[in-house]
Amino acid sequence: MPQPTRGFSASSPTSPLGLFHFVRRDPREDDVVIDILYSGVCHSDLHTARNDWGGTVYPTVPGHEIVGRVVAVGTGVTQFKVGDAVGVGCMVDSCQSCGACARGWEQYCERGMTGTYNSSDRVDGSPTQGGYAEHIVVRQEFVLKMPEGLDLKGAAPLLCAGITTWSPLRHWKVGPGSKVAVVGLGGLGHMALKLAKALGAEVTLFSRSAGKEDDAKRLGADRVVISTEKDQMKAVRGQFDLILDTVPYAHDLNPYTATLATNGTLVLVGFLGLQEPAVNTVPLILGRKSVAGSVIGGIAETQEMLDFCGQHGITSDVEMIAMQDINEAYERMLKSDVKYRFVIDMASLKQSA
Ligand code: NAP
Ligand code: ZN
Repeated sequence: MPQPTRGFSASSPTSPLGLFHFVRRDPREDDVVIDILYSGVCHSDLHTARNDWGGTVYPTVPGHEIVGRVVAVGTGVTQFKVGDAVGVGCMVDSCQSCGACARGWEQYCERGMTGTYNSSDRVDGSPTQGGYAEHIVVRQEFVLKMPEGLDLKGAAPLLCAGITTWSPLRHWKVGPGSKVAVVGLGGLGHMALKLAKALGAEVTLFSRSAGKEDDAKRLGADRVVISTEKDQMKAVRGQFDLILDTVPYAHDLNPYTATLATNGTLVLVGFLGLQEPAVNTVPLILGRKSVAGSVIGGIAETQEMLDFCGQHGITSDVEMIAMQDINEAYERMLKSDVKYRFVIDMASLKQSA
């Protein structure tokens, strides 16, 4: 029998999130049923709830940084058992047969990956709903094993903020000797500092916000550059092999491309859309520099990142909130007033009447 569940959903771009009763499917043969303990709050949740990118189908239950415990498994599940600590990130399915899936790049599935929310289930076409809920049902190939010893609250944001920054760091082969810069100290940015440092890079933070210097250094930055200060920007011209740009809104890339070294790459993971002002190609052409993009990471790569975090004791810096506080949390996230990720304690939803 399909299981009734409760979550928090947005019902229009302008309405606050509120309690929503819906039904999760009965587990299919290869499904894992997860009791959700914690759910991180990503800026993408806010973009989707408010239809910033277009295409949101309402009601929508956001949440794609999910950590919980297995409470049931389908008859064909071999990878997980009841009681396991598991995670679910931004994808819950892909075609599993195209060239991208065969290479472990499910996030670039040629037939389109199935998002954890605001997508359609590949088998029955029902809308997918995310982690701001009591439980979730996910096929075993898209369930991650949480490493032992990591605090599960702090580990929840690894499922999106962690993998989204890990994947480009690995793709562009960051290691000892690499000079990496991160633009924006929010959820993604603070994970980028931690992971780049742990990989052995020299790390710089670009921030608009004076006052984040001490935190940035504690999180792994060797240097902080206030991006609105022209002299500080000039002092780092031509330096970076890789810049990870996490800014959620359109912004001028030209001050940042100027700080790339020859052969350097600025990889966008934040803003989706047409950047303004236009990018000047002169420094790109004259320095063989690239502007690139990247979305989350594959499943094997996500497990690799989780295991790396387990070995290095890396988790996110989190502020725990109750489910009922989500609307205030969104307003604070818009003001960059979070150190550095909100995580919902799902007990708050389960205990409410
Ligand atoms: P966040 O916690 O709100 O952090 C964004 C940071 O960007 C802020 O802390 C701020 O840092 C800076 N910032 C914000 N507004 C800015 C503006 N108008 N101009 C310049 N800088 C600004 O957000 P997040 O959860 O890290 O997500 C960041 C973006 O990545 C979102 O757009 C999200 O949708 C996207 N995302 C992409 C992927 C992917 O796979 N590519 C995955 C997850 C999220 P300072 O105060 O330090 O300047
Ligand atoms: Zn996210």
